[in-house]
Amino acid sequence: MQTQACQALDRAHHLHPFTDFKALGEEGSRVITHARGVYIHDSDGHRILDGMAGLWCVNLGYGRRELVEAATAQLEQLPYYNTFFKTTHPPVARLAEKLCDLAPSHINHVFFTGSGSEANDTVLRMVRRYWSLEGKPEKQWIIGRENGYHGSTVAGMSLGGMAPMHDQGGPCVPGITHIRQPYWFGEGRLGEGHDPSPEAFGRACAEALEAKILELGEDKVAAFIAEPVQGAGGAIMPPASYWPAVKAVLARYDILLVADEVICGFGRLGEWFGSQHFDLEPDLMPIAKGLSSGYLPIGGVLVGDRVAETLIEEGGEFFHGFTYSGHPTCAAVALKNLELLEAEGIVERVREDLGPYLAERWSELGEHPIVGEARSLGLMGALELVADKATGERFDKSLAAGSLCRDICFATGLVMRSVGDTMIIAPPLVITRDEIDELVHLARQALDETA
Ligand code: PLP
Repeated sequence: MQTQACQALDRAHHLHPFTDFKALGEEGSRVITHARGVYIHDSDGHRILDGMAGLWCVNLGYGRRELVEAATAQLEQLPYYNTFFKTTHPPVARLAEKLCDLAPSHINHVFFTGSGSEANDTVLRMVRRYWSLEGKPEKQWIIGRENGYHGSTVAGMSLGGMAPMHDQGGPCVPGITHIRQPYWFGEGRLGEGHDPSPEAFGRACAEALEAKILELGEDKVAAFIAEPVQGAGGAIMPPASYWPAVKAVLARYDILLVADEVICGFGRLGEWFGSQHFDLEPDLMPIAKGLSSGYLPIGGVLVGDRVAETLIEEGGEFFHGFTYSGHPTCAAVALKNLELLEAEGIVERVREDLGPYLAERWSELGEHPIVGEARSLGLMGALELVADKATGERFDKSLAAGSLCRDICFATGLVMRSVGDTMIIAPPLVITRDEIDELVHLARQALDETA
């Protein structure tokens, strides 16, 4: 199909997610036709380095035959069957075992969903159900973080802390509130009282959690939900002091920890789960995205023994589930994806080689005149754009420097995302050192042009 014909159909009938429909209609969409390795290709013959692994999900890179074959074989064998009414099938049972094998040892169960948003809907219901079964039905509040992202369903957006999402489409789920994010560059260094250091700021953010618990009532809080590293909010790596202090607060008030691993899971930070990098011991871990490297939609919640035992022993029927919970074809692809990540030592390579290499190359961009901070962890990186390097003052909002930089990147052959004036990358985990060099080169060019 010709580019223009595709764009016309798209413009006429397709409402894109997270998109200004009218503006897109005028501009038209870029038509992506195929992809291999870390590159996507458009209908005008351009090759573009996918610095975002699709939407933080194509961990294994594009064009893996083995995943196609796993899907084809399963489609022939049993394309679909549900797991509701005392039925199961080999791919879902094997995938459940594999996930529990990879997860920290206190996690031995998984509830499957079709996406990360559905995983977080499941978390909300599971957490509240757990405390009711424990005889503490008053423990219902869930605390999330400003600017956190947990999906687009009503529960997902309520758990997330994205104010523009809360403002659209009616009220959020009650009983959810948010505390400040551990965002040193964006808030800590500028904040009230000018916290003296990132580490002091990390502790202050944990104190904000404790203050919120006391405000709500120390017996009323069910869970704290957070991404190990906030992804969509701007690749926000917390100061080292943050997670230990948060863990101590949660333990003090017997509050469950939900670590949203939808982005951080499956190798992004150089461990199977981001929680392992920060030594968290979450009670629940929502997962999706890298679970199947995005080849087919699948998500789930990894459930720690504490919650699982109560749900299993005391809960009776849990009235919750999705038609595609444990979809056999998605499960077969996810299982093959995990086997390949493991067999090819990809998680270790991110930890030991590619992550440190990206950190070295990425930090060079920190020298650029319009970059106030360059940070990375594993294969996730961010650049903070500033108008004045000496003071760290931001560009005037009307200039939309981040969007400009993103568009320049896309035009010149790199997908880099912008969150305000924070530029983000999270490339496929199979990227090579040479491709990292290319990514850094293209990013620098875009910074030059943006300046
Ligand atoms: N949780 C996190 C941390 C995410 O980044 C996302 C999506 O970006 C979600 C949940 C929602 O996942 P999905 O888009 O598969 O519903």
